[in-house]
Amino acid sequence: MEKLKNFIDGKYVEPIAGNYIDNYEPATGKVYCLIPNSDAQDVEMAVQAAEKAFPIWSAMSTEERSAVMVRISEGIERRMDEFVAAESRDNGKPLTLAAHVDIPRAVSNFHFFATAIIHFASESHYMEGVGVNYTMRKPLGIVGCISPWNLPLYLFSWKIAPALASGNCVVAKPSEITPYTAYLLGQVCKEAGMPDGVLNILHGEGGSVGDAIVKHPKVKAISFTGGTKTGEYIARTAAPMFKKLSLELGGKNPNIIFADCDFDDMLSTTLRSSFANQGQICLCGSRIFVERPIYEKFKKAFVEKVENTVVSYPTDKHAKLGAVVSKPHMEKVMSYVELAKEEGGTVLTGGHRVIMEGEYSEGYYLRPTVIEGLAYDCRTNQEEIFGPVVTITPFDTEEEVLMMANSTQYGLSSTLWTNDLKRAHRMADKIHAGIVWINSWLVRDLRTPFGGVKASGVGREGGWEALRFFTEPKNVFIKY
Ligand code: NDP
Repeated sequence: MEKLKNFIDGKYVEPIAGNYIDNYEPATGKVYCLIPNSDAQDVEMAVQAAEKAFPIWSAMSTEERSAVMVRISEGIERRMDEFVAAESRDNGKPLTLAAHVDIPRAVSNFHFFATAIIHFASESHYMEGVGVNYTMRKPLGIVGCISPWNLPLYLFSWKIAPALASGNCVVAKPSEITPYTAYLLGQVCKEAGMPDGVLNILHGEGGSVGDAIVKHPKVKAISFTGGTKTGEYIARTAAPMFKKLSLELGGKNPNIIFADCDFDDMLSTTLRSSFANQGQICLCGSRIFVERPIYEKFKKAFVEKVENTVVSYPTDKHAKLGAVVSKPHMEKVMSYVELAKEEGGTVLTGGHRVIMEGEYSEGYYLRPTVIEGLAYDCRTNQEEIFGPVVTITPFDTEEEVLMMANSTQYGLSSTLWTNDLKRAHRMADKIHAGIVWINSWLVRDLRTPFGGVKASGVGREGGWEALRFFTEPKNVFIKY
């Protein structure tokens, strides 16, 4: 069976302790490769490699660093089919989704930050008759990037690209559940001429290798995307060491539908915002609030569309949903369906596993699920499920829906459907969320700030925000 390796100092190496863990294929439920279960010794080796590389990488001109990163972006693009197949197999997502979203966006992430850094200017503040301040922005040194399993290479590259572009060296860890495309990335970096030790990719469990990255005194900043509980732990561990932290955490996003919306556009987008990537996108709108005059119309049309949605193995070109990422995750999602029933909810469609035929019979497939009749403040409507499950709830007034939308501990994204311009602005202003999409969903402009409020995280990624995070400002004042 294939054994993946860590990528340290420009070489693929085995974990020092020689421990491996199974990597499952969600579509079949079978183990298909082994991945290193790295620990603090491997992190130490990676940090030493990064330390050696930092003076070289940070001293390169911005144009040279940018050129290496453009070549990485082109390298992924050249091997598009290989990356797409690997992402879909590792994660269970439809091949078509990996081909249209995940891998093209990873290509864009590298390209975007490779070019953004060329335009990144620092500030100067003129004091009339007194002097002038100018601000330098220098790389931090060695930084840690830790990413989740839902959009594996997409979110991995979203952190690594700005970190590298700003001149840092990186020790990175993808999720142990979806390591494969990060494993392939090492080869692309090598071919692109990235100096050894600039990017080090370690595999293994969060509690061992992830924790060792966070705790290492030479790692100056942690950029983390994952669950709120893990984020809390990382914040507690890193804060006494005064590390910079960017935490992109969970969500329980509202999708608010007013009666005056463009119904057909809303309906097809709501299908995507509910169930894309099997509902495993932190930005999915899992709580759907519908204005009462169109509640019954929406419910009928939505349930019909959901029932016609094809769940199938990832390489089936008709599949709109593939497998969820793991058996424990499937069980977690199903436990929330049971909880919803206990809390008085009615399952309008779905709510069960799909048993496929042949080699896929052990795969982790779930029917997309719609539930109604739940109180806005019950656990099903407050806790993140992160699967193909949405609830629908009617509302009568703006005040009522705002109260329900803002009632969770989270505040990542939100979606509003209305043709009333004034209302759209009013609502956008009052919603507790880092991102508001009006009459749309998941439209991403890489220049805009990305992140959430409350328990959805601290800090923002994207554009200048990311480049500022990965640099340290130093102000210099010159007296006239
Ligand atoms: P986890 O928090 O379980 O894991 C995220 C990453 O952290 C993984 O690489 C994991 O390793 C690692 N990790 C786990 N424990 C530690 C630790 N003690 N120290 C350091 N690293 C650790 O999240 P999931 O992978 O389950 O991802 C799903 C979550 O991510 C959801 O809550 C979702 O909302 C959130 N998310 C947020 C996004 C945002 O932008 N705000 C975007 C996408 C997802 P391993 O898995 O190998 O154990």
